[in-house]
Amino acid sequence: MADKNGKLNLKNLTFSDSVSYYFDKAAPFTDSPQGLLDQIKACNSIYKMNFPVKYGNQVKVIEAYRVQHSHHRLPTKGGIRYSLHVDQDEVMALAALMTYKCALVDVPFGGAKGGIKISPRNTSPEILENITRRYTSELVKKNFIGPGIDVPAPDYGTGEREMAWIVDTYMTLRPGEIDGYACVTGKPVSQNGIKGRTEATGRGVVYSLNEVCSYKDDMQQLGLEVGLDGKRVIIQGLGNVGYHTGRIIQEYGAVVIAVAESDGAIYNEKGIDVEALHKYRIEKKSVKGFPGGKYIADSISALELECDILIPAALERQITEVNAPRIKAKIIAEAANGPITPGAEKILLKKGTMIIPDIYINAGGVTVSYFEWLKNLSHVRFGRMQKRYEEKHQSNFIKLVEDLTGKSVPKSRIDSLIHGADEIDLVNSGLEDTMINAYRDIREFKKRKRNVTDLRTAAFAVSINKIRDSYYTMGIFP
Ligand code: NAD
Repeated sequence: MADKNGKLNLKNLTFSDSVSYYFDKAAPFTDSPQGLLDQIKACNSIYKMNFPVKYGNQVKVIEAYRVQHSHHRLPTKGGIRYSLHVDQDEVMALAALMTYKCALVDVPFGGAKGGIKISPRNTSPEILENITRRYTSELVKKNFIGPGIDVPAPDYGTGEREMAWIVDTYMTLRPGEIDGYACVTGKPVSQNGIKGRTEATGRGVVYSLNEVCSYKDDMQQLGLEVGLDGKRVIIQGLGNVGYHTGRIIQEYGAVVIAVAESDGAIYNEKGIDVEALHKYRIEKKSVKGFPGGKYIADSISALELECDILIPAALERQITEVNAPRIKAKIIAEAANGPITPGAEKILLKKGTMIIPDIYINAGGVTVSYFEWLKNLSHVRFGRMQKRYEEKHQSNFIKLVEDLTGKSVPKSRIDSLIHGADEIDLVNSGLEDTMINAYRDIREFKKRKRNVTDLRTAAFAVSINKIRDSYYTMGIFP
């Protein structure tokens, strides 16, 4: 990381160097012994594989990875990415982020990540299925997957379909394993997935922003009003995370004024209908020509437009020292992993931009993955045991109130009063509670430590303290 004179040059940092840089910046505020810090930071296991796959009459060698960053809690957990940018450094960085993320939101897993170097857009579904199944068999062979070992999930370029192929391959190779469905999360609901997982990361981003914007003194410092209502938002990436974030943040009254995709951006000061743009893009395979806004060919320049909240939700390293000076957003919410380089962060913090770090704000996905894993291990849907009981109990209570007061509760209120919690109600409630509590931990830590001036350093320090405590309870470090 340092040059030959021992000086740190932020421009030369790789993605995993950046994660280590943030760790090192936070470590002095944690009061942990150096040996323990070294252990927390170290990457525990790296599995690089190459395997052949048939493409029509040809055979291609596929490069793929699974990295388990930390075994302080088992299983390890992290998504699988399909992209031509995948390399060992990227997967190591993403696995480390998973360790800090899980600890921060009290999800009892170590961090991991997987990646396959392919373009999912230019690969047929048949070949994608072959690659996914072969990758899963490689993980099984090396004992790198399993409900108590390592549990993958979706990430960039993957979704429910790939998770269904993974679970099917795993169950074929490990027949009769009673908890086998818990070997992967983000599965379709029909394959023992959980309601609310698909949109969980985006919903978590919105719950977090709602909490962030609820503090009057913080908002005043940024020159903003309290609450999400009326906030002008720009989103980069209209995939799983970006689409659901945009759709849900509109329900809170925010106005999405621009959406940047890989083939251009759409801008409309009055607000873009995110649902309509998403449908349009699926149909036309491009955002170009969308009638609800102006097309901007230079997609990345849309991040520099005037707005209150900028939400990068595509890939890492989108905001660098080159464009950071021109970014005008007051708040940047890192829905993607690592979208801001350390050099860019320095520039933004100097300008007073509030950066809500990835290890906190995109943790909604792994939180609901944890709920899915619990559901799979307990073999029962959340809400199944208590829903009717709760409804009967609430009905009796309303009846009692009516008998005692001689007045009847309006019919329009009864349904919402007696509604017992379904799986989706419980998932969203658990997700909201998690995101609110984690933000309070980070904000309080920052307030308590006068020299901690940014949320990322506070988030890393809170996370390192939690991992340190789990090592202490294991008795490995005195
Ligand atoms: P996705 O594949 O569903 O969507 C990514 C979108 O970004 C695609 O629509 C793609 O076209 C677009 N994109 C790619 N390059 C772009 C560019 N240069 N400019 C604008 N748009 C571009 O992926 P996703 O699951 O939404 O993941 C996005 C980010 O969120 C990644 O960093 C991922 O690690 C992170 N993340 C995802 C989850 C999850 O649950 N899926 C959870 C936590 C973090």
